[in-house]
Amino acid sequence: MKSLSYRYACLQINLAAIKANVLALKARLNKSTAIIAVVKANGYGHGAVEVANAAIEAGATSLAVALLDEAVTLRANGITAPILVMGWVAPEFAQVAIDQKITLTVFQPEWLAVFYQQQTSGSVSIHVKLDTGMGRLGIRTTAEMADFFRLLDQSKVKVEGVFTHFATADEPDLAYYDQQNNRFNQLLAQFKQHHTGEVIVHTGNSAAAMRQPNLMYDAVRFGIGMYGLYPSIYMKQKRPFKLVSALSLKTRLTHVKQLAANEGISYGATYHTEAHEWVGTIPLGYADGIQRKWQGLDVLVNGKRMPLIGRICMDQCMVKLDRAYPIGTEVTFVGKQGDQEVSLEEVASHLDTINYEVACLFTARLPRIYL
Ligand code: PLP
Repeated sequence: MKSLSYRYACLQINLAAIKANVLALKARLNKSTAIIAVVKANGYGHGAVEVANAAIEAGATSLAVALLDEAVTLRANGITAPILVMGWVAPEFAQVAIDQKITLTVFQPEWLAVFYQQQTSGSVSIHVKLDTGMGRLGIRTTAEMADFFRLLDQSKVKVEGVFTHFATADEPDLAYYDQQNNRFNQLLAQFKQHHTGEVIVHTGNSAAAMRQPNLMYDAVRFGIGMYGLYPSIYMKQKRPFKLVSALSLKTRLTHVKQLAANEGISYGATYHTEAHEWVGTIPLGYADGIQRKWQGLDVLVNGKRMPLIGRICMDQCMVKLDRAYPIGTEVTFVGKQGDQEVSLEEVASHLDTINYEVACLFTARLPRIYL
């Protein structure tokens, strides 16, 4: 899908990188472990439909999103692969899931009770979520499990899977992760006493799948790693295997000028030139997801690092140049230029956050170009 744009700014998404990352993980997993490509939040900002298609081409067999809305968007764009909604969906909307063959995450007896009151046709497919230590969604105890299955009517609800989510799989110390695995195995044994039919069992996110590929069950939910990003700085240093990052943020200089010493730059005039300085203007701002905290970060011009100076405006920002450059000179905010690279991890560290968040914060105003 090519978006029409008249801007000197875009996110370039390398779909070959997405495919390479899926293939790299697939090569390490047991043959019986499938890949569920996680494309929630518009594919972590990369574009859900394009990433989903690339992941499936490379061998992922199903998709996962957070919201029913996201699943419906994938269906509206012609995606026929199985889709799991991992977040909580109100039972009032279950008919949409039934009609569009979308699998929901369910774990509450209350949910079942409200669902049965709906005038639905067909049965809803679900994966049952177990909370083994994330403290977010899921059945936690034997008693909750019994309550859930007491209410489960198999003519209306098809249990197709069971899963949990790890809180610390990306950390150096795996003690809490091991504890979650133990709890999962205990709860899974109880689950199997209540439910004898075949189900897909899945626990691993990118971190778990990359660290223990042969200990995963029937599937892994591969998110951040598929985009070529490491789940944590620790994992980037440890590199269980090499990932190829898919996203670059490119723009161009729209204005270049030389200023005398002590001239102010941008709102609040928080930056003053120290001597005669070349300053470039860039058509990217916080309305594109370049938050004001990007001030001071390096971008790449002519293969060299140069700092963003002054406050980031809504639509523009300024860079300190080492000399005059022609209007239209390429500027790389994220990605490689020459032998230099600004990684999403470097940006995240400057913003005091994680690469996941930076990727999700690029707004819809920025065109995505697929390579
Ligand atoms: N599973 C669940 C339930 C999630 O919420 C997420 C993402 O947050 C994932 C899997 C994918 O995790 P990651 O992006 O670390 O692979």
